[in-house]
Amino acid sequence: MTEEELVQSAFDELMSVLRSGTTEENRQLIVRAFEFAKEAHKGTIRRSGEPYILHPIAVARIAAKEIGLGTKSVVAALLHDVVEDTDYTVEDIAHLYGTKIASLVDGLTKIGEVMGAESSRQAESFRKMLLTLADDVRVILIKIADRLHNMRTLASMSLHKQVKIAGETLYIYAPLANRMGLHAIKTELEDLSLKYEHPDEYQVIYDKITTYSREFSDLLERFIGPIQENLNGNGYDYTITARTKSVYSVWLKMQKQNVTIDGIYDLLAVRIVFDPKPEQPEKWQCWNIYSLITDLYRPKPERIRDWISTPKANGYEALHLTVMGPAGQWFEVQIRSRRMDEIAERGLAAHWKYKGEGGEGSQELDRWLDSVKEALTNQESGALEFLDEFKLNLFDKEIRVFTPKGHMKTLPKEASVLDFAYEIHTEIGNTCIGGKVNHKLVPMSHRLKSGDQVEVLTSDKQTPQREWLEWVVTAKAKSRIQDVFRKDYKEALREGIEIFEGIVRELKLPPNSEPLRRILEYLRLTNKDDLYAALGRKNLSREEVIRELKKRQEKKFMKFWTLQFLWSDKDAKKNKEERLLADETEAETAGAEIVVAPCCNPIPGDDVVGINMGGKVTVHKRKCPEAIRLMSSYGDKIVPVEWVKEQAISFPATLRMSGIDRVGIVSDVTTVISKENGVNMRTVHFETKAGVWEGSVQVYVRNTGDLSRLIEHIRALPGVGSVVRLETADS
Ligand code: MN
Repeated sequence: MTEEELVQSAFDELMSVLRSGTTEENRQLIVRAFEFAKEAHKGTIRRSGEPYILHPIAVARIAAKEIGLGTKSVVAALLHDVVEDTDYTVEDIAHLYGTKIASLVDGLTKIGEVMGAESSRQAESFRKMLLTLADDVRVILIKIADRLHNMRTLASMSLHKQVKIAGETLYIYAPLANRMGLHAIKTELEDLSLKYEHPDEYQVIYDKITTYSREFSDLLERFIGPIQENLNGNGYDYTITARTKSVYSVWLKMQKQNVTIDGIYDLLAVRIVFDPKPEQPEKWQCWNIYSLITDLYRPKPERIRDWISTPKANGYEALHLTVMGPAGQWFEVQIRSRRMDEIAERGLAAHWKYKGEGGEGSQELDRWLDSVKEALTNQESGALEFLDEFKLNLFDKEIRVFTPKGHMKTLPKEASVLDFAYEIHTEIGNTCIGGKVNHKLVPMSHRLKSGDQVEVLTSDKQTPQREWLEWVVTAKAKSRIQDVFRKDYKEALREGIEIFEGIVRELKLPPNSEPLRRILEYLRLTNKDDLYAALGRKNLSREEVIRELKKRQEKKFMKFWTLQFLWSDKDAKKNKEERLLADETEAETAGAEIVVAPCCNPIPGDDVVGINMGGKVTVHKRKCPEAIRLMSSYGDKIVPVEWVKEQAISFPATLRMSGIDRVGIVSDVTTVISKENGVNMRTVHFETKAGVWEGSVQVYVRNTGDLSRLIEHIRALPGVGSVVRLETADS
């Protein structure tokens, strides 16, 4: 094959991988660009001895086939070294191919210039490069294609250049490719970089992986066979491929875990790419396949990665699981639809294909470019630091932080020290009191940044607090904190019940729900568990509950009866004359306050009368001398009043009694009182003088009937002389 034929065949191959929708007009444009570039580079050869034009063709082919770019990008790729290496200018390109293609070529030329500069100025150059060029992401994509081809042909370069280019690739281009979602290219760039940076280590791992996959080919068949059967049985169209982990990813794992190649056990991965059935959602079908696989093999629960519900920042979607194979070997299985696979392999270009140029894919990209520009214009960070940040911020929804021993942890953006603590271990989270970030003391609410080294400070005195929930963003931390509260709640509940039962016993309250109901009313709680929890957590003091229960107890006795004006009795059972009286005075007494006269202290059942003095109705016993005096002077102020039974309980009354002193009289009297139905003792006072005792007992009674019965029963006791009800207010 002549050189001419070699070039033509390479170009023909490029034409065969163009996007299917490429118009004839565009094809002609590409042919024209090829002829132009071939002419421009004529006579130039690469270090490998090949004609130079093969390089732009290869770059254009990567751009079209492996990245999925369109005509303008293919043309720019073909022309990308023309301005740099020949006498043609950007203006010439603009004149021949238009300003858009010219600006792409200009960008690529500038990247070439800045990247070729001294390595000490590299970061600053890179920063400038992005600042100038980031307005068209295709520049970066074509540059990645350019770099990939250079890496594929790196063998012909000098050793010194190999190491420099490999380092640069690993540092800048592989992360950039990853951020662009170009997973296959990223992996290849990493592997090639490793091959030139650490050739010996690369070879050891490469050999091991190759041997391993040969050794396990039988096992792999035994593993895949049943899966295929299940998928066929369920009518899936799919391809299933077994693949080993990339050399670089194994090497990285060895570095991180500080193990040899023999310490890495999951070298094999199986990928299932299916053509989704049109009648069912893709996501559903992924999980269905998941289910078909886990019917056969036991999954490792913590190794399920659902990037279908939440795609990675670079657009990656797939369902990953790790299952135990027939010989106890772990296999990673990746499940993807055809569309997901294209996105995974070709990145954002595939996004555009599925979402259209103006769709979500390019908005994502715009957002990323905006954030890159923002970072670039930020004067505070030095150029080198910027590059570090850039490298680590390639995942914009995730941050990577490190333990003091250098283990990397991936957390969502906005994660705090507390999130990190829970990520390490639940106990570490539960006892976290703060942290050290890059050796500086910070509170546990401190938000982490990518690249932070984080040390968690703990104290065994620490317990989780409710406000912690506001400081965490990971589901793990949230649920662990809530777990503690659930556990705490149960404990508080148990303690609260104990305390409350103690109170009930101490106050000798009836063993029913009555005191509980009362205290709930007071605290405006609807749930008894809330009361117990409040008591258990000491948010509510035992003393407060006791005070309130006692108050309620007294109120209870006081409220059983109320006084009511007769005319407000709806039954209207009084005779006509009384009704008449009522009608006349109703207007002026309506709404008046009713008070019990302190002079005679009437209780329910007593015949009473009200005297209206200045809007206040004082209620006396009918036989009270004071009432009689008032009635004679203010006849027109008399208001008919009666007792209305609200609840069958009590009022206070005082009994005076005396008798011949004898042993046990006090206990006899109090026993009688305590046995009496509807009577409660309030205070008891006994005195003995010269063989005669005198007692004063305050009781609560429901009505005069109860009181008369009580008086009778006390009188019946041996040694009791007189028992009288004290009619005055000193009771
Ligand atoms: Mn190039």
